[in-house]
Amino acid sequence: MTNQCYSHSLMGISAALENIHALLSPIQDAESVNLHEALGRVLAQSCRAPFHLPAFPNSSMDGYAFNSADIKNTPFNLEQVGISWAGRPFTGELLAGQCVRIFTGAAVPAGADSVAMQEQVTCSEQIIHFPASIQAKHNIRYVGEDVRQDDNLLAAPKQLSAIDLGLLASAGIYEVRVIRKIRIAFFSTGDELSSIGSALAAGQIYDSNRYTLTALLNNPCYAVTDLGVIRDDKASIRTCLLAAAQCNDVIISTGGASVGDADFIKAILDEIGQVNFWKLAIKPGKPLAFGRIQGCHFFGLPGNPISVMATFQQIVTPALRQLTGLNNNTPLRFKAVCNSQLRKQAGRQEFQRGILSQTESGAFAVVSAGKQGSNILSASSRANCYIVLTREQTNVAAGTEVLVEPFSLFL
Ligand code: AMP
Ligand code: MG
Repeated sequence: MTNQCYSHSLMGISAALENIHALLSPIQDAESVNLHEALGRVLAQSCRAPFHLPAFPNSSMDGYAFNSADIKNTPFNLEQVGISWAGRPFTGELLAGQCVRIFTGAAVPAGADSVAMQEQVTCSEQIIHFPASIQAKHNIRYVGEDVRQDDNLLAAPKQLSAIDLGLLASAGIYEVRVIRKIRIAFFSTGDELSSIGSALAAGQIYDSNRYTLTALLNNPCYAVTDLGVIRDDKASIRTCLLAAAQCNDVIISTGGASVGDADFIKAILDEIGQVNFWKLAIKPGKPLAFGRIQGCHFFGLPGNPISVMATFQQIVTPALRQLTGLNNNTPLRFKAVCNSQLRKQAGRQEFQRGILSQTESGAFAVVSAGKQGSNILSASSRANCYIVLTREQTNVAAGTEVLVEPFSLFL
């Protein structure tokens, strides 16, 4: 069987994602956090506005508050009878022929329904001259125009953004219910792996995957445990997996997922858990095992560093987002003209690393970030996107339109 025929028999990414989607149930447990801890967490309960926002009519300009009933003949003059400051309202009521100096955010006094910008008027002492161009009912922020009392401020599920925190704060809400953090443990496997700080013996390399994973898992929704490096030893890996499954929702390993004589992940998962799939039509990253160990989901990622990055972003990230209850898990993709020639064989869906840019006219262009081997970290370090090539696609000529996926943007 040629490599290409073999690749055609592998499970595709969309089938793998559907398989994972069908098996994962979003975590329901919630906890309370305050606004200082809430950024990036997923809201578990919708929040209602306890009062109208804004709560009182206020000015959107520095100027003069007046009653539109005074616009009888334009231009017209009104007498200034006071000042309404932001936080220090004018407490009286406007009578016919009167106006009040007002500043942005200050309460509009009783009897006024309009604000003229200060640039529009002229003043002689306390007499304010309003020109013919003055319009009624302008420059006022109305009660409840942002959110009405009892309407949803924020609907769950939602990953809380900076402005969401501001929205909650503007309604005086300091504590919210969010989905508890997903407990995730990860480890590397490989006899060749050495830790940074110790000298490399012959044939050894530094374990880079755990640092990449630490960074990829740096998310306020995840509580992460780094289990270190486990040797290529069946018993050690089995013990590690069984212990980690007791207290985690998800375990991620890297390395040992292929078919070499020191690759034990698939066999161990068969023994102590359940394999849902193994090997995908994805490049980089074919040897990928997904399954379950007791109540814990398991992703056995390949060992090559760029396979780890690509499979994590394409397969693991949507799964983790689903577990936190998010349903916008489709990566943003769009077309760009590829100004490099790309090499590709039919068979697997490829995620080549590219550098995306935008021309002055707004069109997108992409070039290859360099060597595409799954062991080449430097090219991916320069990249800011994937160039997503279908299974069927073969070599791409320069000037062709391709699909690109900027790193980490979801719809
Ligand atoms: P494996 O999947 O275990 O056969 O590993 C595939 C390739 O990835 C080999 O060249 C390994 O040395 C390399 N590799 C595995 N784990 C790591 C790691 N944690 N950091 C860097 N390279 C790794
Ligand atoms: Mg290995």
